Amino acid sequence: MSSADSPTPAPGAGNAAEKLDAMDVPRDAPRDAPSRHAHVIVIGGGLAGLATAIRFRSEGSDDFLVLERGDEVGGTWRDNTYPGAACDVPSHVYSYSFVLNPNWTRSFSGQAEIQDYIVGVARRYGVHDKYVFGCEATSARWIDSAAQWEIETSMGRFTADVVVAAFGALCEPSLPDIHGIDTFEGHIFHSARWNHEVDLTGKKVAVVGTGASAIQIVPAIAGKVAELQVYQRTAPWILPRLDRRYSALERLAHRHVPSYQRLLRLALYWAHEAQAVGLAKKPRLMKPLELLARAKLRLAVRDPGLRRRLTPDYGIGCKRILLSNNYHSVFRHDHVRLVTAGIAEVRANSIVTTGGAVHDADVIVLATGFQVTDSPTYRRIFGRDGRSLGEVFDDVGRQCYKGTTIANFPNMFLLVGPNTGLGHNSMIFMIESQVNYVADAIATMRRRRIRSVEVRTEAQESFGRMLRRRLSGSVWNTGGCASWYLDKHGANTTMWPGFSFEFRRLTRKFDVDAYHLST
Ligand SMILES: Cc1cc2nc3c(=O)[nH]c(=O)nc-3n(C[C@H](O)[C@H](O)[C@H](O)COP(=O)(O)OP(=O)(O)OC[C@H]3O[C@@H](n4cnc5c(N)ncnc54)[C@H](O)[C@@H]3O)c2cc1C
Repeated sequence: MSSADSPTPAPGAGNAAEKLDAMDVPRDAPRDAPSRHAHVIVIGGGLAGLATAIRFRSEGSDDFLVLERGDEVGGTWRDNTYPGAACDVPSHVYSYSFVLNPNWTRSFSGQAEIQDYIVGVARRYGVHDKYVFGCEATSARWIDSAAQWEIETSMGRFTADVVVAAFGALCEPSLPDIHGIDTFEGHIFHSARWNHEVDLTGKKVAVVGTGASAIQIVPAIAGKVAELQVYQRTAPWILPRLDRRYSALERLAHRHVPSYQRLLRLALYWAHEAQAVGLAKKPRLMKPLELLARAKLRLAVRDPGLRRRLTPDYGIGCKRILLSNNYHSVFRHDHVRLVTAGIAEVRANSIVTTGGAVHDADVIVLATGFQVTDSPTYRRIFGRDGRSLGEVFDDVGRQCYKGTTIANFPNMFLLVGPNTGLGHNSMIFMIESQVNYVADAIATMRRRRIRSVEVRTEAQESFGRMLRRRLSGSVWNTGGCASWYLDKHGANTTMWPGFSFEFRRLTRKFDVDAYHLST
């Protein structure tokens, strides 16, 4: 019998600390593993790492490897298997431009369908053999004398002339530091490490957090649990999700009329792109969306008291705008409770909130997001002067040139780096822009026999000033909220403050003049 089937978990069997540790399993390197060299090593093989691998393959370059700690491609979509997991940008935009998928069954696809798509793309381009699966990069160090990166991994040492750091921005679960959490005797897991062994039927389940993952999880599990407590610190703004199943005719058209699919994608792209005006440039233009969100909430929740608690106290767009048609309405059910008091303590079988109320729980789901601005991986990458990326970011903030290169870190290209996040459109568009830039940089280095490139501090600082100027008028800075977009200095180092096509233009060509070159 699995522990999931156990009516009452044996003491310690559901030990929280044990399970939280198991989320991040380090593998030991075989001591005698020989060191391997590749011209380019990509760390991380999610959508960004995969796009890079495909680009290299398509250009006829074979001297590269992708180190991936998981056992399959997919990244986000391999890891986030929680009930209700789905994209919140329409699938026809949330796909690579070079492999449209005529087979999407819905306008907003679920996790399994997206993961199938990603695996299918990797197969189609034959890049699985460039992946080293189960290989976790534990450190990367620039060796100036050799003009190379030395990468220690769970499978031994690798060296590379160039590193593409594609380890993901929403990849490392953020685990709350709650008093007593280690003493919880039920099951506890993060939304990105869903424990499918645990059957929630008839259980008292606590979902901590009300962000993008939580609002998908809550309606998906509400029907099977005995009691659902939703712990909310700040209410999210929620707009309707225009999700529907595609008809057989539409799917036929997607499959047999490629220009129709391209047009649909283009229309969706521009419809989403328009939101950048309100988010980044003129927050007052967000007002109609706020009115729509309020009207939607009013329709879903009749109780004025509950509605007040579900109404955000900041401008729409300041935190990520969420999409759902059934999140608010689950609170109509008697067994679903919104808890807005802070969590003071977790005990063996309960959660205690600040007023002293005790809420019994069998399972705790931590829908608490990711370590975005303080990724632990930053502490494992060491630049030219021996300092880690984490230390550099501690000093000067998450400064980065075009979201991709960082002074003191030669020949390293960071994908989905600082200020490349979008609140309004597909991240794949940004990823493909960065891959253009990296591919052109590497081609330029080869053509001009350049051994190393390192962004000039002046170029990085001037780019940072441009970002700050633009961000100062954005809803993220003026909307009156604290969000995961902000780093510990209070600076928004996550979002791209403009149209995604502006970023595409900036990254079209490798601008060699912004770099120190060594030959
Ligand atoms: C639940 C969820 C839903 C989302 N929905 C959308 C959406 O609808 N639209 C949108 O635009 N974006 C969405 N995103 C953002 C999404 O993360 C990006 O769109 C995209 O998947 C990022 O790809 P990536 O390759 O940069 O990162 P990831 O997909 O996170 O991939 C990083 C990879 O690096 C590997 N890795 C990390 N560290 C190491 C290491 N040290 N050694 C070896 N391998 C390592 C990881 O195992 C992982 O496979 C969503 C994110 C989440 C979490």
